[in-house]
This record gives sequence, C-alpha cells and structure tokens, in this order.
Amino acid sequence: MNSEQEIANSKILSNSIILKVLGKNIPFSICSIELHKQWNRFGNFHLTSLGLNWILFSFKPNDVMEEFLSGGPWYIGGHIVGLDKWLPSFSPLSLKGLTVPVWIRFPLFPLNCWDEVNIARIALRIGTPMFLDGNSLNWSKKEFARIYVRVNLESKLPSGVWVDGLGGHFFQKVEYKKLSSFCFHCSRIGHLESNCPERVFKKATHNDPTDTVNQETSHSSI
Ligand SMILES: [Zn+2]
Repeated sequence: MNSEQEIANSKILSNSIILKVLGKNIPFSICSIELHKQWNRFGNFHLTSLGLNWILFSFKPNDVMEEFLSGGPWYIGGHIVGLDKWLPSFSPLSLKGLTVPVWIRFPLFPLNCWDEVNIARIALRIGTPMFLDGNSLNWSKKEFARIYVRVNLESKLPSGVWVDGLGGHFFQKVEYKKLSSFCFHCSRIGHLESNCPERVFKKATHNDPTDTVNQETSHSSI
C-alpha cells in the first residue's frame, strides 16, 4: 500500500466515529433518518453506510466529537447504539473496541465511601467512568450512587463487586439502567440470550462439531 496516501486518508477520517445498532439489523435508510433527527444539534455531519450494519459518522467541527462521545446513551428503535472513534485497526467483522455508555447505580452504598474518588474507583471495575450524577453528592438523598460509565462490549457486566473499605470487606450490588440487548447468559451487552455466541457455540459443539451455521447466524445478528 502507499503509506503516504493511507496517512492522508486516515487524517481525513480522524474526526469520525463508527457505530452499530446492537441487537437488531436496522436498514441504513431508517438509521439515517433517526440519527439526523436525534443528532441535529451536533451540527454538520455525514453518514456513510459501511455494510454489515456499520455506519461511519463524520463530523465537520472538531470540537463536537468529544461532546458526542460523552453524551447518550443513544438508541435507535429502542436498541442501544455501540460506538468508537474510527481507527485504522477498525474491522467491520469485529465488535472489538466498541463501547456503550450506560448509567449504573450502587444501591445502599456505604456512607463512608460516598465521594467522587471512591465511586469512580468502584465504577472502574465495570468500565471507564465519565461523570457522576450531581445528585449523588447531595446529602438530602443517599439511596444510591449513580455514575455514567463507558462499557466495552467484550466486558461482562457484573451484578456486583467486592470492595474493601473501612467497614470491612463487602459486596456492592450494581444496577444497570435501561439496558437493551443484554444477554443474561454471558452478561454482555450487544445481543439477547437467544443469540448468545457462547450458548450457540456450546449447543453446536454438543450436537455436531462440524456445524458452524448456527454460530455464523448468531454473529451476524449482533
Ligand atoms: Zn451472550
């Protein structure tokens, strides 16, 4: 390949995001209408269909991309949208690197751990903390701490995490808000239990190790 040309192409794409509606194959034309309706406020942008239900989202103004990435969560037809900055390593055949932002809650959170540093530290076990709900630091209500995190689609979402605090070792329950396309079999976002690659793989292996049709079907519907 011509490296100089590749670098020039990558520079043009440096202000782009790749995204995919998770859990359902929605036609590009419908996604395009929905995205223009919802994201009009992000100014001028261009959408490109990349096949396999991937969409390239290119921004005109430089400063909007970060605002967009820290916004959301975004939904189309009730299905959550996974996204990532475009990188030369992007492959439409893999969900690697794709993330979804989600609100998580820590119910009955110990009062001695209730501060920005410790809430973010626990949230790090689930994903990348983005910002804390301002009400979480309000002393008139301490029913749960709430924080926005970016979760990698390859990560399992735990129902809780073990934490060491001044009060001793305890299990902090974690709740996830408005998760669509969550698989209760492998605890990941992006597909339903009926399409779980792990489950279909085990089933196919058990029935007929040479039968890969089911696996391919399940991947294509992610
Ligand atoms: Zn699964």
